Amino acid sequence: MINWDGRVTAYPSDAVERYRSAGAWGSLTIAEQFHGVAQRDSARIAVVAEEGSLTYGELDELTDRLGAGLAELGLNPGDRVIVQLTNRLQSVVAWYGLLKAGLIPVCTLAAHRAHEINAISRKVAAAAHLVESTSSTFDLISFAIDVQAGHPSLRYVLTTGASKNAPGVQIEQIIADMDAATARERIVQIQRKIDPDDVVCFQLSGGTTGIPKLIPRLHAEYWYNAFEFARASGWNESTRAAHLIPIIHNAGITCALHAVHSVGGTLILATAVLDQALPLLARERATDALIGHGHFSIVDHAGFSDAAVSLKRVLLSGAKVPPRVFEAFERRGVWVGQTFGMGEGFFTMSTPDSSRQSRLTTVGVPMSPLDEFRVLEPGTEDEVGDGVVGELACRGPYTIPGYFDAPDINATSFTSDGFYRTGDLVAVRVIDGQRCISIEGRLKDLINRGGEKISAEEVEGLLLRHSGISAAAIVAMPDERLGERACAYLVAAGEPLTLDDIRLHLQSLSVAKFKWPERLEWVSTLPTTPVGKVDKKLLRVRAAEMTLTSS
Ligand code: AMP
Repeated sequence: MINWDGRVTAYPSDAVERYRSAGAWGSLTIAEQFHGVAQRDSARIAVVAEEGSLTYGELDELTDRLGAGLAELGLNPGDRVIVQLTNRLQSVVAWYGLLKAGLIPVCTLAAHRAHEINAISRKVAAAAHLVESTSSTFDLISFAIDVQAGHPSLRYVLTTGASKNAPGVQIEQIIADMDAATARERIVQIQRKIDPDDVVCFQLSGGTTGIPKLIPRLHAEYWYNAFEFARASGWNESTRAAHLIPIIHNAGITCALHAVHSVGGTLILATAVLDQALPLLARERATDALIGHGHFSIVDHAGFSDAAVSLKRVLLSGAKVPPRVFEAFERRGVWVGQTFGMGEGFFTMSTPDSSRQSRLTTVGVPMSPLDEFRVLEPGTEDEVGDGVVGELACRGPYTIPGYFDAPDINATSFTSDGFYRTGDLVAVRVIDGQRCISIEGRLKDLINRGGEKISAEEVEGLLLRHSGISAAAIVAMPDERLGERACAYLVAAGEPLTLDDIRLHLQSLSVAKFKWPERLEWVSTLPTTPVGKVDKKLLRVRAAEMTLTSS
């Protein structure tokens, strides 16, 4: 086991025993699990993307060579690697290559900038930073070189898709320099020493604090999470599941990459741009897809009918599902359900026997028979009855017992008996005998912009660093395409600033663009509750009314 100095909270040993004896937790690392599946049918296609496809055999060999080459380079099992990659074929190679070397990916977004990456990479003492060459205006490779300066633990900048003379170590070159047989031997040696109950990767919480909290996920539970998702979805080796949202993110790994590979199916790795994604889905005959609320407009897209021809089932997620979206899939003969989940673990899903009403109006039932959940009166450990709205708290074989190195946050994020307080408001609805979960809102102060979470507290703090702002409150305003966008209620210290002033300010602080407020409302004071807190409830209502009247 890696010595985490108490910064990773262990699952209780009796729970681990229970999960193992129930067959949920295995005894292999994720790299070994993948290798095992690849060996069973190496000619089957493991992944197809715009750039091409790879069979299981090819992906297994390439990632052996990459993993062994990374070890040769001087990276050691347990070293943390910040990953900023988008949905490309090579990202899948990079992912398994890191795991084969025993390295621990830290799943950040390609959209993150110095404000986020500096804090996260220092928190985990990252040894390397893996970025891709992008065609966009932002140069991730130069960015990684800048981040490395003055960051003593960061020994390597690794790149993919870079031109020959670009700085950094190119993973394509690492692969080219390593032969397959030597690589396999090396990987076997590395993997033999990894404990399946140790950390496999870090995900970021969609949390409410300044810097995202880090979620340590373990080999055994993380693979189970993905396998259970595949099982509950009824997947097998003939499944061709498409994924459009970031792959190096919890939903991407658990509901797509690992899930499909745990049953030997094919991942159709698309991008978020529907004009490109839909023709790929149609060409590759996708049978399944997870559609986040940023993509609910898919049903109005010209490419939808072609893509829907092969689709058998979709799961909608991220926000209340508009009946017209649900029905548009149904009219094409597609089974439609919902899912709800989080980087911290717990997932719910509609099941094949969920009634239509349950699939349309709820996010289904807990995914695993070993999941436990309670609905609590907010701020207490008291359970409320079915039908009553309360905070969802959960515990189980793939829900974390603690964030990384965060004793204070852990003290308030879990109940006294280890149930994770999700900050989501839910109610249990009994529909046709099934106790289904309906999402009713959230306690946590964040904005869910097309699946990307924006912490209000973080952005408020950044805004207050501008001398022209004396008070700030960020709330969600409803948005048809993305679900929510950030609206800033601000009190000026002097003349009100323009949206461009605010953008320049946040750019100068190197803050990821998706967090920038998209509307400003200048007020003389922020409304407060009777206890003197900013009345965000009222501001949310105002933001919603304003959006209605201006649309
Ligand atoms: P993340 O860890 O980034 O996947 O974010 C998890 C959070 O996203 C949950 O705690 C919810 O607040 C929100 N979320 C996920 N799925 C849904 C859904 N189907 N409906 C509403 N909110 C959701």
